[in-house]
Amino acid sequence: MTSTSAADRTIGWGLIGASTIAHGHMIGAINAQPNDRVVAVTSSDPARGRAFAREHAIPHVHGSVAALLADPEVDAVYISTTNEQHKEQTLAAARAGKHVLCEKPLALNLDDAGAMVAACKSAGVVMGTNHHLRNAVTHRALRRLIEDGAIGQPLAARVFHAVYLPEHLQGWRVNNPDAGGGVILDITVHDADTLRFVLGDEPVAVTALTARQGMATNDLDDAVMGVIRFRRGVLAQFHDAFTIRHAPTGFQVHGTEGSLLAADVMTQQPIGRIVLRRGDREESIDPGPHEDLYTRSVRLFTAAVLGDGQPAATGEDGVRSLAVALAAAESARTGAVARVNGGG
Ligand code: NDP
Repeated sequence: MTSTSAADRTIGWGLIGASTIAHGHMIGAINAQPNDRVVAVTSSDPARGRAFAREHAIPHVHGSVAALLADPEVDAVYISTTNEQHKEQTLAAARAGKHVLCEKPLALNLDDAGAMVAACKSAGVVMGTNHHLRNAVTHRALRRLIEDGAIGQPLAARVFHAVYLPEHLQGWRVNNPDAGGGVILDITVHDADTLRFVLGDEPVAVTALTARQGMATNDLDDAVMGVIRFRRGVLAQFHDAFTIRHAPTGFQVHGTEGSLLAADVMTQQPIGRIVLRRGDREESIDPGPHEDLYTRSVRLFTAAVLGDGQPAATGEDGVRSLAVALAAAESARTGAVARVNGGG
């Protein structure tokens, strides 16, 4: 139950999905908040749900999403099931008056994602999208430096987000189109969100080419490269893959007066470095102290639930970033440039 007295503000979280990301990052991020606690979990497999609850000392295991949503100790839900389930689970949570932090991609199409945002709005509950990267101190520093004019007018960006998908994650992502598998819905959607955040601009068009490099099956893609055009004219290129074992990640923005080169920043870890380059002069930028990305995501979400500010990435952000990923998928399918829905 939410208690909002200044001294005693608690938020009980229900986990919809006994997932890897909940296990590896989000339970720790929730429990790192002074007054947030994971109070319940539900899984489609009761035995896995019980084992998961035992491992993480979660007091209640529910046999269904409906039962978890009926639990009065649950104030907010974290949805980290496979992507095709996010919509119905969000709608049900909103109906039950629970705040929703949903994983990306919000849904498999824009109508569903829009319906999720609308349902939370009309129920008066907070909705956030768990785009972790905009919580990184590095990306926040890049945004601030660009706003402050450190590189003049931004002209181009490059995102290096090609990774090797670890074996334990080579399931629905690489073999199940119905679950929203494939590299674009998994990774490009994060690039889109990070670019939108860092540049403070909205994408209008995308062109992309995909490839099947031996990991994905069932017509899913495991590699993509593309270009996004933004309203103010920035061109951003991206490379996302599940198949690249040895490349570092990175994020660069090139402007009229300088370039910002960020290394090792497209990651779940609170790491990375930024260099500001002008001519042949390079200056290391101290972005400030690193904080766990997911801990900050939960912190801002919790503050929003308690009436202070909004989640790092709102539901609307989730919709807009999904629109870019869907445009990339459309371009790869048709061979034509795709307009980004809502991009103007
Ligand atoms: P998982 O495959 O670990 O979990 C997804 C679902 O699969 C779970 O809800 C669970 O179902 C089921 N499942 C989990 N483990 C097993 C198992 N051992 N055997 C059979 N089924 C299992 O997915 P992820 O945690 O990688 O991703 C979940 C969501 O989070 C996705 O939407 C993804 O896009 C997003 N994600 C976001 C990240 C971010 O940084 N924002 C990073 C990683 C993922 P049940 O709940 O019914 O038990």
